[in-house]
Parts: sequence; structure tokens; C-alpha cells
Amino acid sequence: MTTIYDIDSIEELRVRNAVQPHRIKRFRNALFKSSNDWNEALETLPEAARADFDRTITFQCLELAERHDSEIDGASKLIFKTHDHHLIESVILRPKTGRTSICISSQVGCACYCSFCATGKMGFTRNLTQAEILDQVTQANRMLRPEDRTIRNVVFMGMGEPLLNMDHVFSAVDFLRQPSLFNLSDARITVSTVGIPDAMETFIETYPDMQLALSLHSARQEVRQRMMPQARTYPLEQLRETLVAASKHGKVMIEYLMLAGVNDREEDFQALEEYLKGLPVHINLIPYNEYPGSNLQGTPEPERKAFGERLKTAGFDTTLRYSMGSDIAAACGQLVQHKQKEALL
Ligand code: SAH
Repeated sequence: MTTIYDIDSIEELRVRNAVQPHRIKRFRNALFKSSNDWNEALETLPEAARADFDRTITFQCLELAERHDSEIDGASKLIFKTHDHHLIESVILRPKTGRTSICISSQVGCACYCSFCATGKMGFTRNLTQAEILDQVTQANRMLRPEDRTIRNVVFMGMGEPLLNMDHVFSAVDFLRQPSLFNLSDARITVSTVGIPDAMETFIETYPDMQLALSLHSARQEVRQRMMPQARTYPLEQLRETLVAASKHGKVMIEYLMLAGVNDREEDFQALEEYLKGLPVHINLIPYNEYPGSNLQGTPEPERKAFGERLKTAGFDTTLRYSMGSDIAAACGQLVQHKQKEALL
């Protein structure tokens, strides 16, 4: 299958149809900069070449199955179906003060089995291809066109663990940052990970200016292990060395999902303060998005605020994340899980 992301095959097609390079540039701009639909993009090509391009190239590799627009904030949740009938999800965020962003998936399901995560409950099916990763952004851009918006931030915080699908995630990221394609600056691309030290180091060396986010969630080994089974393989001590290496390139974002009675006590605060001491990190305190079947509870807002204030007083750059799209089950994997259950009824 030749997709619109297959630059080498498109070059072959260009040569076969004797299309001048500047026409291909217009074609690419139509697809990735102006978010045109397929017929509009084809019109940028010489008439004689259109039929061959139309026959050879698959314009879309994901099918939009559902769209849910939040009534309380600017989030839209998209469920896509892959060619082999799997469901993945992406979330468009339109913060009032800030750039339009998209949270995208990197895998169908996930092999990490974090205790609090809806995607983890589904198990792992397969990696997404480069084209499937990018199609989430392209289709979102096309949906946003009537609103005069384009995606300016891409975060890998949807379904899956991006650093366990490195080849495809890296080639997707290369495509996103390429000036002749999506032209996103490195600072606007964030990859979030459960914490795989070798892969994190490769990521930092390859993309020193991109944003790395670590889902830390606890600075106590036994607590973290219970929340995230991967922590057994990659203990906190080893992860800290990677954080030291990463901090040479700028701030790492630390994600800390706050669960009542699990990681929000005094000893948890102290362990976190001690663990991050001296590191230039940005801490993001995340509220828990509950979903049917989860037996965990988020830390109440006032306590989360107080935890954040204490981190600030201790000198850490800290923000409290407001959970966008909570009315449309916008946390990782929730909507797909819901839809899979519906299909079983
Ligand atoms: N595998 C990657 C990226 C996907 S999850 C990672 O773990 O970082 C993106 C973020 O959402 C992670 O910080 C994850 O811990 C968090 N998350 C997962 N389930 C959640 C839930 N129900 N409520 C709030 N945050 C959740």
C-alpha cells in the first residue's frame, strides 16, 4: 500500500509521470500544510498524472469511526478504525490560551499494564505504522480546517507506549518536523513514556530539542511497581541516571497522576522531593480520570492543590493539569474500551 506518507514511492510516481518537482511540492503542501481533501490535492498535479496518482496512492489509512465533542471545554475525541478493524483514539485539545494540540496513539492497546490505565486493560495487539500515527494528525487537521485551526502541538499520550514502537514513532516524528511536510518545531512534539532508560537515551540523543515526558507517578519503588509493572524491569535508581543525562538538554516533564491513598501521602511527597532534587524538571500533577471497572480513586482537588503548592515551595516548577474532555472519557483508552464493551452486548 502506498500512502501519502511514502515519500520514496511518490518520488517514483513523479518520475514515472514526468511531473516537475515544484508540482509535487504544491501537492505536498496541499496535503500537509493546507489540509486539503484528496481531490483538491490531486488538482495541484498536471491533469495527465492525476489518474495514476489516484490509482496508486491510498489517501487515508484510518477510518473515522466516531467523533465526540466535549460540551464543557474544547476537546474532541476521535475514534479511528484501522484496516484490520482495530480501534484507536486521538484527542484534539483547543486550550483557550494556547495552540491547538493533539494527543495521539502509538499502538493498538498496550503491553505495560499500568494499574490505573484503561488501555492497559485491553492488552497489546500491535504497533501502529508510521502512516497510522501520522494519519491521526492529518485527519484532525482536515477536521479543523473549517475552524481555521491547525495542529501546532503533538503529544504521544494516547494509547500505547511510544518507546516500545520506536522505529515507527521516530519515522513519524521525522515527518512531523520536516519543514517541507508538517513543519512542526521540535519543541512542539512531546513523547511520553513509562520510563525505558535505553530508549529514552536514544530519544534524547536523536532529538535533543524535543520534549520528553516521564510518567513517574511515584518515587517509591514498591509503590511504583504496584502501579506500573514495567518499574520492576527499570528501577527508579536507573531511571534517575537517565533523568540526569536528559536534563543536560533541558527540562524533562514529570507526570504524576495522583491516586487517593496510593501516592499522595506525606511519605510520597518526601520521596518525590528527594528523588527530583537538583533536576530541572517540570512536574505535572494529573487528576485521575475514572472509568467503569477501575477500583481506584483520584486524590481530591484540594489535596492535589496542596501537594502542588508544597512542590512549588520546594522550588519545583509545578502545574496542576486540568483534565480536558472529562465528559467524553478523554483519558487514555477509555472510549475504545467503552466501545468494545458495547460491541460485546
Ligand atoms: N505510555 C505512555 C503514554 C500513554 S499514557 C506513558 O505511560 O507515558 C499518557 C499519560 O496518561 C500517562 O502519564 C499515563 O500514566 C496517564 N494516564 C493513563 N490512564 C490515566 C487515567 N485513567 N487518568 C489519568 N491519567 C492517566
